[in-house]
This record gives sequence, C-alpha cells and structure tokens, in this order.
Amino acid sequence: MGYIGDHRSFDEEMKSLFGGKVYRLALSAGTTCPNRDGRCGTGGCIFCSAGGSGDFAAPAELTVTEQIERAKERVKAKRSRNFAGYMAYFQSFTSTYYRSGAELERLKDMFREAVSHPEVLAVSIATRPDCLPGEMIGFLQELDRVKPIWVELGLQTIHEDTAVYINRGYGLPVFTDAFFRLKAAGLRVVVHVIIGLPGEDAARTLETVRFLSSLRAPGPVPYIDGIKLQLLQVLKGTRLAELLPAEVTPDLMNHQIFLKDGTVLPCYNINTYTALLEALLELLPPEVTVHRLTGDPPRRLLLYPAWTADKKKTMNHIRKALTAQENDYVQ
Ligand code: SF4
Repeated sequence: MGYIGDHRSFDEEMKSLFGGKVYRLALSAGTTCPNRDGRCGTGGCIFCSAGGSGDFAAPAELTVTEQIERAKERVKAKRSRNFAGYMAYFQSFTSTYYRSGAELERLKDMFREAVSHPEVLAVSIATRPDCLPGEMIGFLQELDRVKPIWVELGLQTIHEDTAVYINRGYGLPVFTDAFFRLKAAGLRVVVHVIIGLPGEDAARTLETVRFLSSLRAPGPVPYIDGIKLQLLQVLKGTRLAELLPAEVTPDLMNHQIFLKDGTVLPCYNINTYTALLEALLELLPPEVTVHRLTGDPPRRLLLYPAWTADKKKTMNHIRKALTAQENDYVQ
C-alpha cells in the first residue's frame, strides 16, 4: 500500500485496472447546471467559478475527439514510461443535465464518442444527484459494458444548514437515492467533499465522512467507490469571494475568520489540514479509493487560502506527513 494507509490512490487503482499510469483529460459536455439556470436555483453554489468547477476543461464548442486531442497536449509533457491511457473526465458544470430529448441525445453521443476513442480506457462524469433520471443511468449502465464508467457526485457536506448556505440546491435524501440507484446499476460512485465550508468545523466534516463510510448498497462493492477531498478555496468571481473580507487576518487562536455576513470560515494551514485528512481517511473503509486530497485551482483565480496554490508542494507535504503518520495540530 502507498501513503494513504489502507486505501488505494487513484493512480494505484488505475494501475491495478489498466496496468499503468492513466491521465485524466478534463472535458466539457457543454451543459449548464440546474442550480444556475433557474431549474432548482440561480447563481450556483457559492464557491463555484464561472467555469462551473471545470476551469481546466477543453472548450465545449469542440467535438469530444477534438477536446481529447487538445487535453492530451496538456498532459503530454508529464507522460511517464508506464503510460497506459486516458480517462475522459467530463468535469464542467453538471454533465448529465438535459432539458429536452434533443439535449439528452446530444449528451449520449458525446459520451459514446469518448468511450469509442482508442486511447480512452475509462470515463468519469461529474454531476449532481438530482440530474440522474433512470434513462440516463440506464444509458450509462449500457456504456459501462464497453468501458468502465465512474459517476462523480458533488455532495460537499451532509449538513442541511450548510447545504442551504452554500446554495447547493438539493437535500441529502436526493444524494442517497442517487447513490443507491447508481450502485444498483453497477456504476462506480465517487463523492466530492469540501473541507472547511463556512460554519463547518472539523467535527462536522468528520460527520460527513462518517456518514459516507456507513453507506451500504446491495452488491459486490457496497461502499462509495471513491472520494475526492479538498479544502475550500475562494475563487475570484464567485459569490463566496464577495463575502471574503478585504483584509484576511485569520484569528490564529481560534483558527477562523469571519465572512462579511458574520459566518465563521475555518482556517487550515498545511499541518492542520493534513492532520484532519488523516482522521478522515481512518474513517473510510479500505475499499474506498482516494481520488483527491487537495484542490487544483487556476492560480489566477485563487484568492484564499494562498498556500493551496502550489499543489505539488502541498501534495509532497501531505504524502510525507501521511507516510510518517504525523498528527499534530501545530499552527
Ligand atoms: S452544482 Fe456544480 S456546476 Fe452547479 S453551481 Fe454547484 S458546483 Fe457549480
């Protein structure tokens, strides 16, 4: 096992499935989000950037094949000798959201095109649990017989008051219902969780991960298949950025700052963040693959916290600390 205790990392899982390194190619399905177009809300989640949390994705105007070729260029320099292939990752906005039969057919064509690309080994689709009607799940189930499909759900928190504050636009039962329907279809489910949401201390994040760890669906793999953990990052142009004080002076004693509306925003440094990650990972069944331990925002958009801008440095620290099983909350 690697640095994440009993858990496999995304790289380790890909290696065991495909025999080598798999690179994610960030793509766009050209969808919007029901939390932006008025279907269930407007303005989107307060942390979501104008790019719909897919700021590295290739432009949606291109065909899927063109997007794949464009995205391959981005990872070309990083390709290692044990390269196995690519995961087509539909990242931007809500990638299974459609408002008409024509839009559904367009999405199906895009996903089919991704699956049929010779270098694509697997497909991952980021979406909301309220955008997974039976017809879409049935289609993904069929596609999964050709190449494996992961579905990523942006839960972020189990706490309803926080969900309302961040304007997520759906309740926890919607998530659990989607989880069980996806698992019943044999699809792999990856859940996104954000650490340090406004009003959420470490105990609340632990409750979210404890809940996810307790989910059991019938079938050979009852758990969530993967998790993406990341620290809340305040990006330019978001509603959260408007709430950030002009001068960010963390309260070092209490590890928090106050947003303009008086809500507490917990502050983590690299040590406290890593220590919390370690505690969260201990809660998860070993079968859960860890896809992400930190965010990777475009530096031009990041307002806070500045230390998360350097993903490589952050990951090196986390790897080292988790390997050494450090657990100090030193400021
Ligand atoms: S559901 Fe996703 S795409 Fe929609 S506003 Fe929230 S984070 Fe952005």
